[in-house]
Amino acid sequence: MDAADVDGDLVNILFTEKEILARLEEMAREIEKDYEGHDLLIVGVLRGAVMVMADLARAFDRHLEMDWMAVSSYGSGTKSSGVVRILKDLDTDISGRHVLIVDEIIDTGLTLSWLTANLASRNAASVEICTLLRKPEAVRVALDVKYVGWDIPNEFVVGYGLDYDERYRNLRDVGTL
Ligand code: IMP
Ligand code: MG
Repeated sequence: MDAADVDGDLVNILFTEKEILARLEEMAREIEKDYEGHDLLIVGVLRGAVMVMADLARAFDRHLEMDWMAVSSYGSGTKSSGVVRILKDLDTDISGRHVLIVDEIIDTGLTLSWLTANLASRNAASVEICTLLRKPEAVRVALDVKYVGWDIPNEFVVGYGLDYDERYRNLRDVGTL
């Protein structure tokens, strides 16, 4: 669905589907350059990263592998606590592998900080992070993020995988409610 289908819900459209796809193409070129000559495993963080994974992966002009993890942050509602539980682990043995974690948004950074350390402890050759969006004002941990689509203001956004109470994930664009 697009903005017209959720008429009146969105205060602002931040990024259209077209802009998102164009940005992911640019990011794929950059990542390809950095990983030239190396195998690459991209790991999507369920459920929000499904759209980014699908479009980013198809923007590549080379082979790569895809795997998925699902994690849940303990703690109240929308606030991230940094305590993370693995709901679905990787199916891939990543020792010696170059791993790129793909997420749709970094808010406090606590989830990815934990996940990066967890994957690095499995003796991966490298673990880097790629995110479509990041909220610099909300970040609470020092997190080395190699690829960022856009930095955005500290506002709640939906669409393109991002949900509010499990809705709006299938919205093509990204906007504020
Ligand atoms: P963090 O650990 O605080 O960085 O939390 C990251 C997770 O919180 C993301 O992967 C999203 O699932 C969720 N999240 C953070 N900000 C937003 C938002 O603006 N809209 C929807 N989900 C969000
Ligand atoms: Mg997420």
